[in-house]
Amino acid sequence: MKSYNIAVIAGDGIGPEVTSSAVEVLKATASKCGFELNFDERLFGGASIDAYGEPLTEETLAVCKASDAVLLGAVGGPKWDKVDPSIRPEKGLLNIRKGMGLYSNLRPALMFEELAAASPLKNISAIDILIVRELTGGIYFGERGRKESDEILPDGTPKGIVAYDVESYSVGEITRIVRQGFTYAQGRNKKLTVVDKANVLESSRMWREITESLKPEYPDVEVDYLYVDNASMQLIARPSSFDVIVTSNIFGDILSDEAGQITGSIGMLPSASLGAPGTPGLYEPVHGSAPDIAGTGKANPLATILSAAMLLRWSLNEVKAADMIENAVRKVLADGYRTVDILGNSSDSSLKVVDTTKMTEAVIARL
Ligand code: NAD
Repeated sequence: MKSYNIAVIAGDGIGPEVTSSAVEVLKATASKCGFELNFDERLFGGASIDAYGEPLTEETLAVCKASDAVLLGAVGGPKWDKVDPSIRPEKGLLNIRKGMGLYSNLRPALMFEELAAASPLKNISAIDILIVRELTGGIYFGERGRKESDEILPDGTPKGIVAYDVESYSVGEITRIVRQGFTYAQGRNKKLTVVDKANVLESSRMWREITESLKPEYPDVEVDYLYVDNASMQLIARPSSFDVIVTSNIFGDILSDEAGQITGSIGMLPSASLGAPGTPGLYEPVHGSAPDIAGTGKANPLATILSAAMLLRWSLNEVKAADMIENAVRKVLADGYRTVDILGNSSDSSLKVVDTTKMTEAVIARL
């Protein structure tokens, strides 16, 4: 029997609740599809700070790197908001991405028809956008610091201390992520939108030049460019017209949350972070640790369950098992099961409002 090793780093807040749901679904799916999954659970984020004084230990990173794939919940919470920035829970996220060489973040924003009522937009038809976000470069990893300045602003105000964060991208970093954008577009509706700020930023101008130089290799893909400010408007105005969006770390961070929200709830959005082919990927819901609802049973586990489906598809190549989970989620929604976050303003009395456990059971029953 085929057997895979999955590292589970549940994290904080609702992280352990939603990862345990996804693990249950993965176990049930594996037994139906005839393969074995071995789970190695490790502390991460705030939980790891409490136990070991750091959000990601070397040992946990080593377990993740040696696994076939990693399932992550979420990290952070008010308890750790005041810890030193060098060991904050979010630093664990940046370190694991860097440590595992995960340079590409795939965030599908797919609207399930049944959840149209939960979308803040009116009269929208199908939305199926794949945002490919560069994950280990740009401003989040650029040079940063503070320095004293003697300069005076034109109105006479002294500048004082200057804080800076540098956006820098290399040809190599841009090329590998734009190639991924082209490749995913080829497997979908063959439209690639590059989002940048090329009217202002030199790094964005290089994104455009590199995309233009790669275009002849992907003649079947139609390419267009949008400035990020315009892209944020167009996502609201015409979300159904997008296929694949490829963009930098910071723009992807912001736009993927926007795209996610218009599909219904952040509680529905999975993501995958991938590195070089053949290396383990990391799969996590887009949402955070939601400390406001942790321990109440209100957490929607579907984003993490759909992340588990992505794990099966992209890291284990267990396509049938991935389809099985995605179909079960569709059936659950069609059968009227809703956690409170996806009720929207629907007054349909046939809907069944359920907690995290009942939603998980409903998915497993429909595999
Ligand atoms: P959040 O995503 O945790 O929560 C935003 C809102 O969405 C909250 O009202 C929350 O209750 C709701 N929500 C989120 N996930 C839900 C789910 N599965 N089901 C139902 N409702 C859900 O974002 P935030 O409040 O800005 O951040 C809270 C903490 O999470 C912070 O410490 C932040 O740094 C951290 N965070 C972590 C990650 C990550 O681990 N990848 C991502 C974002 C935020």
